[in-house]
Formats: sequence, structure tokens, C-alpha cells
Amino acid sequence: ASMVPDEIAQCVAESLGRFVEMDALQAEASRNIVQATGSEAGCVTASVASGICISLAAAMTGADLGLAEDLPDISKVSKNEVIILKGHVVNYGLVITQQIRLVGATPVEVGTVTVVEPYQLRHAITEKTCAALWVVSHHTVQSGLIGLQTFIELCHEKSVPVIVDAASEYDLKIFINMGADVVLYSGHKFLGGPTSGIVAGNSALIKAAYMHQSNGIGRAMKAGKESVVGAIAAIQRWQNIDHRKLHEEEYQRLTHIRKGLEKIRGLCVEEHADPTGNPITRLKVSIDPSVSGLNIEELAKALHRGYPQIVVRDHFLELGLFEIDPCNMKSGDP
Ligand SMILES: *Cc1c(COP(=O)(O)O)cnc(C)c1O
Repeated sequence: ASMVPDEIAQCVAESLGRFVEMDALQAEASRNIVQATGSEAGCVTASVASGICISLAAAMTGADLGLAEDLPDISKVSKNEVIILKGHVVNYGLVITQQIRLVGATPVEVGTVTVVEPYQLRHAITEKTCAALWVVSHHTVQSGLIGLQTFIELCHEKSVPVIVDAASEYDLKIFINMGADVVLYSGHKFLGGPTSGIVAGNSALIKAAYMHQSNGIGRAMKAGKESVVGAIAAIQRWQNIDHRKLHEEEYQRLTHIRKGLEKIRGLCVEEHADPTGNPITRLKVSIDPSVSGLNIEELAKALHRGYPQIVVRDHFLELGLFEIDPCNMKSGDP
């Protein structure tokens, strides 16, 4: 879990000593989300994972509280299939299709892992389709699939709402601009807020999603006032921050680390851009094969065991490398 900047922590701390009317606070969150994302409405939930659940539940039941109270029993729901590209069936802690099944919906995987053609998406959409889920992540297959714009067009041709999981994305406007019906952001990743999920989307779906959070299955995943206040503070900070300066600072930290690592014989260090287009540069660290006796996995473990503890991005270990990420570091950390 990441650190929270002082100015956000202070807002959260202040909220703890007060009574809060949650619907009014969520209405304030909605105004902030609308301003930041360009959506019609918004609400804050516990995480992106819960945002996916309440958005899908909303797409199944609309604002019908009777249907909402039935979930996960879907016997009276007319549409319960959720489209997802096979190359988007990722695991970000849990398998994303479980998120779909959790609310009573049925995942329908489209295409093959590495190839999807428009006809396959058209074919997968039926009168039972309630929503389509798109995942933006380096974990997804990055080539051979159809693009998001085409995905949205084909889904909208058949009046299927598109829900975009943009948990780890910088740009709060781009997906609403492209026509997504609901977009989900983590409050606790780049935004630096406390654990929270930001749900932005069209009024009808947000209204229904919030109903699920207050009175339906989303109640088990609701956000407390500290999360909502923290998410609002994080959204405001993200809009006011000088992003060019932030990127420059992060890049300076990265350069500092790179210069240090380059002095170590046997390490290969390389800069590389974010795979989903966020303005962040990372270091790829691998081991020069001509130097024996070093093993990348052992190195990652040793860094983790050390003091200060250093946690690397380790999902490429089997390819012989790890990454170093400069985001959310404090000055002095490098
Ligand atoms: C991190 C991440 C999630 C999970 O976000 P939480 O807010 O922690 O639930 C979901 N999807 C993607 C693509 C992520 O990167």
C-alpha cells in the first residue's frame, strides 16, 4: 500500500472528528468526479474491485431495488451476460471473471487470448448482454486485440454499456471522452488517496451503482467517510498538481537510482516507458549473463529482506528482469 501525501491525510484526519451525512458527502464526491472526468455523475466506493461489482450490478438491474435485493439471484433479471475480451481476463489479485460472477452475472469471453476480430465481438453480444468490461493494464495482452474505440462503437451499436477498468491510469478524462459509460479509477494508486475506488459515468448507471452500494450487495464493499473525503482530496490534488513537474521529479529520482545501479558490475539497467501510456518512466534491471553467480530472483528477494526494504515490480522475473518504479516516492527515498 502506498503512502498518502500530508495534505490528503490532513483532510481525512479532520473528517474523523465530525459527523457526516454520507449521501451529502457522496453528492460532493460526485461533483468533484464530474469536474475531474467530464462524466455526468460519480460516486466513491471501497476499491476498483468493488466499483466493477456495483457497476455490473447496476447494468443488470437498473434502479429497480427489488431486483437489486434479489442479487446474486438473477432469476428475474433479463440481462446478465458480461462481455470481456479473452486477452483481458487478468489476475490483479483475484481473477477478474470472479468479480463478474460475484454479482450473479456470467462472463462471456470473446476471441482468443491473442486475437479478437470485430465479428467475434458482434457474435458474442446477445439480447442477454448487460454490459461489456474493458481492462486497461500492462497485464492484458497488448497486441492483436481490437482497440477500445472500436470496442465501444461495436457495443454501442447494440446498446451495450461499456465499463472501463482504468484503475492504474493517470488520465481522468480520456475514457469518458472516448464514450465509455462507466470508468473506474483507484483512489490509492497514482492519485495518492486512501484506499478507495472512483466510479465515474452516466447518471442512470451511477444512480443504480450507488443504490447497490447503499442498499444492495455493494453494502459489503461500501466506502467510509474517510475514504470518500480522502478520494475527494486526492482528485482535487491531482487536478491542481503540476504534472510536468511531477514527471520531472520522478525522472530525476529514477536517474539517481540508475546512476547508482550502473556502478554495479553485472547489472544491466535500461529505461522504459509505461506500457499503457502513463507519463512515467521505469527502470528495467537485468543481469549480464557473462557475470556468473547472480540471480535476478535472489536479488529481488534480497532487496525485499534488506533495510531499508526495497520492493521491486516483479512480474517479469521469469524473463530475467525486474522493474523499479519512481512513483509515489518521497525525496530522499532514491
Ligand atoms: C490495481 C488494479 C485493480 C484493483 O484496484 P483496487 O482499487 O485495488 O481494487 C483493478 N484493475 C486493474 C487494471 C488494476 O491495475
